[in-house]
Amino acid sequence: MEQDYLLLYKTLFDHYGPQNWWPADTPLEMMIGAILVQNTNWRNVEKALIKLRPYLGAEALDRLQEEELAQLIKPSGFFNIKAKRIKSFIQWWKQYNFSLNRVKKLEKETLRKELLNVHGIGRETADVMLLYALDKAVFVVDAYARRIFYRIGYDMPNSYDQFRLEVEQTFPEKLDVFNEFHALLVEHAKQYCRTRPLCDKCPLSSICKKRVEGD
Ligand code: SF4
Repeated sequence: MEQDYLLLYKTLFDHYGPQNWWPADTPLEMMIGAILVQNTNWRNVEKALIKLRPYLGAEALDRLQEEELAQLIKPSGFFNIKAKRIKSFIQWWKQYNFSLNRVKKLEKETLRKELLNVHGIGRETADVMLLYALDKAVFVVDAYARRIFYRIGYDMPNSYDQFRLEVEQTFPEKLDVFNEFHALLVEHAKQYCRTRPLCDKCPLSSICKKRVEGD
């Protein structure tokens, strides 16, 4: 099957409409949320963010003791690990005087490399930060994207970056498209392409091979 990412994107967009992600009031809240959501669901992140709200400024987070931070974010799980990661992220950003504009001026791949060097920030976390807080056009390769692309019939590279680059080449530098694409894939994985897929009424049915994992 021809791997028509544009058709996939358009079909999802026509069905679900704009998703207007990420659910956060500020870029900092978005980036902290991206760390908190590692290995948990968004409901737990929301609980942690409510407790953290009085400290959701870069300087305030910098001043906060790691142990105190860990207690505040307890609802998100793995709280000691995540507190260390948030502190490492804040330390990294401090080099730029907590200026979002200075960070945004960095070239995409340079910024990506810097984020990947921060303790506890992997590819998926770095890419959602780049996409939703730092205005860089990247495709996020999460488990939902892998599942949907596979079931549709697209043979994607196993390597995270090769998968990402292959999709990115289709929509060069289209920030709004990548912003919506990731959110639409998440929505679709929740509504239809679940672990047990609901193919009968699925809006992608006509373009999907409905492959079962392991085929
Ligand atoms: S038709 Fe089925 S397998 Fe294909 S995208 Fe829809 S729910 Fe997933």
